[in-house]
Amino acid sequence: MTTYDVETIKEMQKKILELKKIKNAYIIAHNYQLPEIQDVADYVGDSLGMALEAKKTDYPLVVVCGVHFMAETAAILLPDKKVLIPDPNAGCSLADSITPEQLIEWKNKHPNAVVVSYVNTTAEIKSLSDYCCTSSNAVKVVNSIPKDKEILFLPDMYLGMYVREVTGRDNIHIWPGECHVHAKVSPSDIVKSIKENPDADFLVHPECGCTTSCMYMKERQKIDLHILSTGGMVKHIKSSRRDKFIVATEIGIIYRLKKETKGENKDIKPLREDMICEYMKMITIDKVLRSLEEEIYEVKIPKDIADKAKKAVERMLEIV
Ligand code: SF4
Repeated sequence: MTTYDVETIKEMQKKILELKKIKNAYIIAHNYQLPEIQDVADYVGDSLGMALEAKKTDYPLVVVCGVHFMAETAAILLPDKKVLIPDPNAGCSLADSITPEQLIEWKNKHPNAVVVSYVNTTAEIKSLSDYCCTSSNAVKVVNSIPKDKEILFLPDMYLGMYVREVTGRDNIHIWPGECHVHAKVSPSDIVKSIKENPDADFLVHPECGCTTSCMYMKERQKIDLHILSTGGMVKHIKSSRRDKFIVATEIGIIYRLKKETKGENKDIKPLREDMICEYMKMITIDKVLRSLEEEIYEVKIPKDIADKAKKAVERMLEIV
């Protein structure tokens, strides 16, 4: 990745802001994006927030700064607009953990099951699903499905286990996929950090490898930790009276959390400095500029797939 000095970054940001006006473009960015990208975005949020924002936008040109499935979700919701991603190779290890063929085979083994897919999936997987969900609303989505219905939950096993535990349902089958960034968090990381920071609030993303242990610690050992989506973390810190927070998710969120609580004297630190998603970081400021200049790379979904996927995505957006 090319690194730029502060002045060059500012120059590129200025050009991006000018081009946004000239081209009537809108930039939607994920919380894990680099700070200089978050600063030029019209909206910064988690996957659910990004999808809700995409749905209501009127702009003819939308640049999605995030990984590929996020741009696909925007393209599914905005079939008449031009949706761009600055680097089409920005993938996701979690989305790659299940193929359409594997899902079809799984569905054939459970023909009466309802398929709930985490939003971190390809458009094709979404088109084979009944519902999509994000970490913000996964529990609500599952609770909206009749209790006697079998559920196939994919692709994140930690989120799946969390949902199974919270809803108390034993008819949820879980796909063994994981995100390589969140899977590296172990219960011992949390235990060690709790000992070192007894006065902090612990915020854990449900995709983390320690989620089920965290739930156990929270319930049985009365440890003050919170399992929250990235959007939920922002809300929690803003409304909390505490002034120290340890955050277990991709470190890009720290910039947004600090920016949104500026002046409130909150001490916000990542649990592990190495929680970095290299796919998210493939979107760089020079690529965002080039994307706007040349209107590349357009994300197009075949209509038959987009139409089916849209039903599952819209169900997710109705349950917030
Ligand atoms: S952090 Fe994990 S789930 Fe999120 S985009 Fe990166 S690989 Fe995918």
